[in-house]
Parts: sequence; structure tokens; C-alpha cells
Amino acid sequence: MTPNRYKRVLLKISGEVLMGAGAYGIELATVTRLAQEISETVQQGHQIALVIGGGNIFRGVSSAAKGMDRVAADHMGMMATVMNSLAMQSVLQGQGMDCRVLSSIAMPSICESFSHQLGRRYLDEGKVVICAGGTGLPFFTTDTGAALRAAELKCDAMFKGTSVDGVYDSDPKKNPQAKRFETITYDEILSKGLKVMDHSAIILAKESGIPVIVFSIRENGNIPKILSNTGKFTTVTKD
Ligand code: UDP
Repeated sequence: MTPNRYKRVLLKISGEVLMGAGAYGIELATVTRLAQEISETVQQGHQIALVIGGGNIFRGVSSAAKGMDRVAADHMGMMATVMNSLAMQSVLQGQGMDCRVLSSIAMPSICESFSHQLGRRYLDEGKVVICAGGTGLPFFTTDTGAALRAAELKCDAMFKGTSVDGVYDSDPKKNPQAKRFETITYDEILSKGLKVMDHSAIILAKESGIPVIVFSIRENGNIPKILSNTGKFTTVTKD
């Protein structure tokens, strides 16, 4: 396998990763570490589109459970993803990277609105494109937003950074006997009910033929390593 098997990639980072060792919000040292790794992957020749979640700031479903209107809560969650995206853009730009935030929710004084043409053009120009605001719709998550943007931007693969080094048949943090998969199909994930990503995201990736690579983003240096096809990860494909 060649190192740059996947040239244009969508990297999904969950909001919780940005908390670093903290319990809430954004730890700048972690954003700086991730930004350095992203810069390295661009130097390796990859085109990077990023989707960052918002769970470190606000999760709609939890607030709806406490009595808030779900739609309003999800709007707040989507705005949390914009906050994380702005933090990442700022740090990337501070490191000399050209980076644009494209939001699914129009906020013209803060960032540009997402369009697939603009996104593709910026990626071709070597800019890091941060797709903020998820799908722009309540009742969805940023995993589904990531699969959607990966398809719209014609990405060769979607890389999902998690807290573990791949897909397991049960939670490895709770079950030391959990079995790790080197490869697994979209259909197996759906039929076994594995909690890798939302099922709507898996179905979208399957229908668009986009492989999903699941890896640990908590390990230092893993983004450039996994994108150059070394280290531990699980590949999700159709067969
Ligand atoms: N959200 C939404 N629609 C989307 C994406 C996100 O309503 O298309 C809201 C939802 O409330 C969600 C929050 O934004 O809880 C943060 O996103 P997510 O939970 O996916 O973030 P992550 O778990 O990746 O940090």
C-alpha cells in the first residue's frame, strides 16, 4: 500500500478530544498538538477537510433530556461545533496554515457558509477546510455531518479519531477480552449494533463508497502516522 493512498480526507474529531485532560471546553495545548499533526499531514501531501464535534461544550440530547426543547438544544450544539472550529482555525493560522471555516449555518460576519464548490476549491488550493455546524439540522450528529461532507467534498476516506485504536466487538475499556477488528464491513457494524458511529453516518459512508478508518487520536503523533498508513487502526469497507 502506498503512503498517500488517500489524498483527500475528511478527519472527524469529537469535541471531547479538545478537552484534553480537562472536564469541559477547549484545552489550547491539545488544539495546538492536533493542529501541528494536521499541518504535518498537509505537508505529507494530503488535502484535509475537518469536522469537529461539540460535545465538549454542548450536547443537544442531554439538555433535551433535562427538559429543554430538543430543536433549540441542537441549535446550541451546532453552535458549539462552530466555536471549536474557530479555535482550531485560529491555532492553525497561528502555525502559518491557510485554513477556512465553512459553516452549515450562515454567520457571514464570522465565517463563510458551506458550499461543496467552495470546499473543493479550497482543498485543491491546499487550504485546510473546517466544516462547522454539522449537517445544519437538529436530530443529527457531527458523525453524520462528517459522512455527508466527505461525500460532498469527494473525499477518498473518512478518518474518525476516537479514544481507542479501532473497532472492537465490545467496549475494550470495560471488557479486557474485547476483540479488535483489522477490517470490518459497514453491514457488520450495523447488524452487530457496534457503537462506532451513528448508523446514519455508516449508511451514508456505505452508499457513497467512502471507507472509514477508525483510530486513536489521543495518542500523540497519530494523525500523520495513520494517514500515512502505519500504526493501529480499523478499516471499515463494503467487503
Ligand atoms: N448537532 C445537531 N446536528 C448536527 C450535528 C450536531 O443538532 O448535524 C448538535 C447536537 O445537539 C449534538 C451537538 O450538536 O449533540 C454536538 O455534536 P456531536 O454530539 O456530534 O459532537 P461530538 O460527540 O462529536 O463531540
